[in-house]
Order: sequence, then structure tokens, then C-alpha cells
Amino acid sequence: MNVQPSSLPLPDLRDECLEDAECLFDPELHNGPDPAAGDEHPDVRTAREDIAKDICATCPAQVACLEYAIRVRPVRGIWAGLTADEIAQVAMSRTERESTERESTNTNEFYAGAA
Ligand code: SF4
Repeated sequence: MNVQPSSLPLPDLRDECLEDAECLFDPELHNGPDPAAGDEHPDVRTAREDIAKDICATCPAQVACLEYAIRVRPVRGIWAGLTADEIAQVAMSRTERESTERESTNTNEFYAGAA
């Protein structure tokens, strides 16, 4: 599922502890300019994202934000200090790890049943 951060009502995060999250007060810093307005220069984007990541680093909702982002898989923006691509990588790593753990558990249960 791909989601535009700016289109999200973010009820989950607001319910957690987002009252003071900086990204709510300056969404463009985390989401970037409206894509319809044209491309953002790569240097400008990098500088903007670095600032957004610094803000995320001190956000009390960072853990909840990361879990939410992994669930909704945003296609752009900075979430919990990560880009959309980085979030996709975290989500993929988590899925692979959980799959490996399930296989290990199933194997252990198989051998425990055979004993
Ligand atoms: S961690 Fe960053 S993107 Fe997430 S709620 Fe906090 S400031 Fe916003």
C-alpha cells in the first residue's frame, strides 16, 4: 500500500503522542513541496530532509511514527527520521526476519514433535 503523507489524517499518530510533533506545524518540511509545483532541486531536498531528520530525532512519537510508517508504506516524505525508501527497506528486513523466525519455530516444533 502506498500513501501520500500529506493525504493522511494521521489519526493513529495523533492518538499516540503527536500533539507536539514538529511535522504537524510545518508539513512541507517533512513531505516536501507539492509535486505538482515541479521538481525539488536534489541539493535543496537533501538539506530539507536533513533538517526533518534532525527534528524526528527528538520527537517523542518517533517509535510510534516508525511503526505507522512501516504499516502504511509512504511513497515520499520523512517519517521517523527515514525516507520512504529507507522505511521500505526496514519493512522488508522486518518481514524477512519474521519469516525466518517463523520457519525456525516451525522446524523446532517439528523436531520436538519427532522426539
Ligand atoms: S518522528 Fe518525525 S515524522 Fe514522525 S511524528 Fe515525529 S516529527 Fe513527525
